[in-house]
Amino acid sequence: MKTAPKTALIFGIGGQDGSWLAQLLLEHGYSVHGTSRDREASGFTNLRRLGLFEQVRLHSAVLTDFRSVVQVIHEVRPSEIYNLAGQSSVGLSFEQPVETLSSTTLGTVNILEAIRFLGIEARFYNASSSECFGNTDQGPANESHPFHPRSPYGVGKAAAYWAVANYRESYNLFACSGILFNHESPLRPSRYVTQKIVRGAADIAERKTDRLRLGQLAIERDWGWAPEYVDAMWRMLNHDQPEDFVIATGEAHPLEEFVNAAFAYFGLDWRTHVEIDAGLLRPSDITHSVGNPQKAERLLGWQAQTKMPAMVHKLIDAEMERRRGSLLMA
Ligand code: NDP
Repeated sequence: MKTAPKTALIFGIGGQDGSWLAQLLLEHGYSVHGTSRDREASGFTNLRRLGLFEQVRLHSAVLTDFRSVVQVIHEVRPSEIYNLAGQSSVGLSFEQPVETLSSTTLGTVNILEAIRFLGIEARFYNASSSECFGNTDQGPANESHPFHPRSPYGVGKAAAYWAVANYRESYNLFACSGILFNHESPLRPSRYVTQKIVRGAADIAERKTDRLRLGQLAIERDWGWAPEYVDAMWRMLNHDQPEDFVIATGEAHPLEEFVNAAFAYFGLDWRTHVEIDAGLLRPSDITHSVGNPQKAERLLGWQAQTKMPAMVHKLIDAEMERRRGSLLMA
């Protein structure tokens, strides 16, 4: 007898992670549903770039509107729910703190409440973030590292993390948070510094401009490759019990090293072209951020494969493909 495919619902399917996760779940034979705040207005560029637009079922849902969250979960009846939606830019969160906090925290609580209200058995993944930790000066952060967020985004993610933990303990829900460190791919929007650097270096190499303006270069981050990170999300929901996991490469690299690798790819010296713009500095920033992924390695069998500087080269290769008008390859 043939078993019915598993059904997954991805809130924020049009984003970077949502699109990569849709690809992974389709490869695993899932029936994939996803949401956007307005299905009709969203171009779903990422899903189209991956050639997935026709393979997923799309719904409109606004996380802060409980009725719309209940309605889509009731309609889809998923066995797995992934919350990847919400205002996801740390920089923008200083300008839109209320929108950031409500989409992140209230949005997560709305999904948790909807699962309880409908009484369904769905497993729930919530996108938490290394921004909860703030600086990781005491060594690579594992799951018990204290939280000290340094942005409205981090504050919202920390509150959502505790809501997930509380609902798991109080109501026995299969709910987990993935505390993911930065992960990149060609699907990142250009406002993120990594894409800004990649596109800026490519523009300078193509003589479209001569300058790239950046903010703080003296920061260190733990950067990984997004398609690998969505695999960790799936593994968390298919683990035998609900737990939170840090997902990271375990390596910290200065932003200056990223910039250097991007310019060196084109045979350029970044010092000739990069200007520091004080207007791009954040009111408070994390200077050192690195994760300890040993628990995920041990219990999920997950390990980051793509690290610096290979990741920078993959981003630039994809950008140059895009400029040549070719289809994106993962
Ligand atoms: P994206 O910004 O690419 O995608 C998030 C999606 O959420 C968007 O496509 C958008 O969908 C929706 N969205 C945007 N703004 C709002 C808002 N104000 N209210 C509600 N929905 C909104 O993010 P990523 O795919 O990179 O990240 C996925 C999740 O993982 C996010 O929660 C992010 O904070 C978190 N995360 C990401 C990390 C990373 O390095 N990428 C690191 C750690 C955590 P639409 O416009 O269709 O509604």
